[in-house]
Amino acid sequence: MVTAAYRPLAHVLIRRIVLLATACALLLSAVQGVLTYRQVQQRFEATLQDIVSSNLPMLSVGIWDIEAEAVRRQVETIVAKPEIGYARLNVATGQVFEAGDAALLRQQPGRRFEIPPPRGSGEALGTLLIVVQPALLYQALTQALLAIFLGYLLLTLLICSLVAYVLRREVERPLRGMAEFAGRLAPSSLTVPLQLSRPARPHHDEIDLVARGFATLQAAISRHIDTLDQQVEERTRQLDAALSDIRELSIRDGLTGCYNRALLSERLPSELERAQRYQRPLAVVFCDADHFKPVNDRFGHLAGDEVLRAIALRIGSQLRQDIDWVVRFGGEEFVIVLPETDLAAALVTAERLRAAISTSVILADGRTVQITASLGVAAFQSGEDVESLLNRADTQLYLAKQGGRNRVMG
Ligand code: GH3
Ligand code: MG
Ligand code: MG
Repeated sequence: MVTAAYRPLAHVLIRRIVLLATACALLLSAVQGVLTYRQVQQRFEATLQDIVSSNLPMLSVGIWDIEAEAVRRQVETIVAKPEIGYARLNVATGQVFEAGDAALLRQQPGRRFEIPPPRGSGEALGTLLIVVQPALLYQALTQALLAIFLGYLLLTLLICSLVAYVLRREVERPLRGMAEFAGRLAPSSLTVPLQLSRPARPHHDEIDLVARGFATLQAAISRHIDTLDQQVEERTRQLDAALSDIRELSIRDGLTGCYNRALLSERLPSELERAQRYQRPLAVVFCDADHFKPVNDRFGHLAGDEVLRAIALRIGSQLRQDIDWVVRFGGEEFVIVLPETDLAAALVTAERLRAAISTSVILADGRTVQITASLGVAAFQSGEDVESLLNRADTQLYLAKQGGRNRVMG
């Protein structure tokens, strides 16, 4: 990922403020310039009016009295004003008096004033052409504009410097402090509070809100970490329980709750191995309900299920807890494994099982089912494998069926 170059927030803000403020200063200068231009023009206009009101009557008298010297002095007096660059008096008699820089006429046309006779009305005595001093006009204008622009510029710079100072102090420094604090945060230092060196104030602002948010976040993470171990322990316990449930489901028969054939294949070999290694007795019993098909046919399949559950319960009730175990081998056939049991003891147990099964089963709906079972018993013989042992028990079961059912063979 390409990371953009770091640029402090205050710099960006200050740059924008300076740009905007300069634009504003330029705009204000322009407006002020127009106003100043008008003022300067008014000043020149006032000078011209002054000439009209004070010099023209004097010129009028001078011309009337035909005092050429006085008229010339008057024209020179007019040009002596700094605002006036050139003056030319054309007397009606044809005389011409001029003073100042005639070349200025090429730059501007000038203003013409008729010279009235000294008293009363009548023909004009001549025409006075006055050309203002353009250099002075421009100079006055540029000076005024420069002063205005520099004034605004200085004011802008001053305000921007103050804004920059305040931004640095109030925004950039606390934000930088928070960024550094966040960068240093680690699980072990979660309880260390964020310290911002800000002057005391009667109000709070966004930076305080962010700082408070940090504290809340730290506290929440801290609590979370504290309870994480507890949660992990609890979850592990739940997981273990779920796993053991799953394991239990995978080794149990859903209808009767007895173990299933998968468990028989898993556990019987180790039982045999143990019996072989320690030369201990071990017996298995095959138990098959007699004429079970007619039970289903007569009472229905659900009733048959009920009977199978009853048979499983009866078998369980006759066995040693945590020693003997029962597998639903298939349909209505069960395998009972009797560790530490020789053939004689197994035959006794099998007989007990037969007797327990062969009592009538009362169904939930009150009907009575007569049931019996045949059992075949085989005791483990040294060196024998699982298949052989089960086959021998199955053979005995077959013999019991052949012998008329409801009996034990071994
Ligand atoms: P036998 O005395 O020779 O053992 O006769 P049987 O009728 O018990 O034997 P068979 O093998 O002919 O029939 C077994 C019956 O068991 C057939 C089947 O409908 C029934 N069965 C198998 N599994 C279940 C079960 O899960 N529920 C119910 N209700 N019946 C089952
Ligand atoms: Mg049967
Ligand atoms: Mg059967």
